[in-house]
Amino acid sequence: MENLSVDAHFRLIEDNYKVICERIALAAQQSGRQASDIRFMAVTKTVDPIFINHALSLGIDLIGENKVQELQSKMDFLKPATVEKHLIGHLQTNKAAKIVPLVSMIESIDSVKIAEAVNRCAEKIGKTMDILLEVNIGREESKTGFMPEEIEDSARQIAAMPHLHLCGLMTVPPICEDAQESRRFFSLAHQLFIDIRNKNIDNIDMNVLSMGMSHDYYEAILEGATQIRVGSALFGARHY
Ligand SMILES: *Cc1c(COP(=O)(O)O)cnc(C)c1O
Repeated sequence: MENLSVDAHFRLIEDNYKVICERIALAAQQSGRQASDIRFMAVTKTVDPIFINHALSLGIDLIGENKVQELQSKMDFLKPATVEKHLIGHLQTNKAAKIVPLVSMIESIDSVKIAEAVNRCAEKIGKTMDILLEVNIGREESKTGFMPEEIEDSARQIAAMPHLHLCGLMTVPPICEDAQESRRFFSLAHQLFIDIRNKNIDNIDMNVLSMGMSHDYYEAILEGATQIRVGSALFGARHY
C-alpha cells in the first residue's frame, strides 16, 4: 500500500467499494432481501483519515473502530464529523466514560460487568447507549464474548439497565478453511438471534445481527446478517 500514490489509493477504494456493493446486492437477493436491508460498515482501524474521508465521500455512512484511543485521535479529522461511529473492539471498564459520548453504538459488549459500566457512564451524560452483545459463537478460548448459552440470561440482566438499549448481536466466527465452513457459525448466530427475538423481552429490540468481514461477508449475508463490517476488502491490506 505504501507504494501507491494517494490518488491511486483513492481509485482502489472506489473500485473495491463498487465490487462490494455488487456482491452485497447479489447475496441479499439470494437471501430474499434487498441490498438496502444490509447495513455496510467500513472498518477503519489503522486507516489514515484521508482515506476514511474518501470512503465517506462515496456514500459510506458508518465506520467502526476497535480502540477507544484510535477513534479519539481521528475524531477531529473526520469529514463529516457527524458520521455514525460504532465501537467494535473489546472495551475496558476504565475506557467506558471516554467512548460513550463518541459513538452511537457499542457492538462489543462482552460481559455484564462492562454493560454496567457503560450504563453508569451513559446515565451521567443523559444518554441511552445502543449496544449489541458479542457472542463467542465458535466457543473459542482465545476470544471474548458471551457463550451462546449465556446470551439469554445476560440479555435479561442488561435489558433491566435503563441507560442501555439492546439492539442485537455481533459475532466473529472462528477462522475457517473456506467461507462455506463459516456459514455453519453464521447460521448458529442467526438462530440464536431469532430465538432471543422470539422471547419478546422488554426493552430489547433484536434488529441488528452484525457479522461478516472482508473474507466472508457474502456468506454472512446469506445466513441473515443485517450489518457487515468490512476493512481490508475496502481499504486494502492493513499495515500496523
Ligand atoms: C478488523 C475487524 C473487522 C474487519 O476486518 P477485515 O477482515 O479487514 O474486513 C471486522 N470486525 C472486527 C471486530 C474487526 O476487529
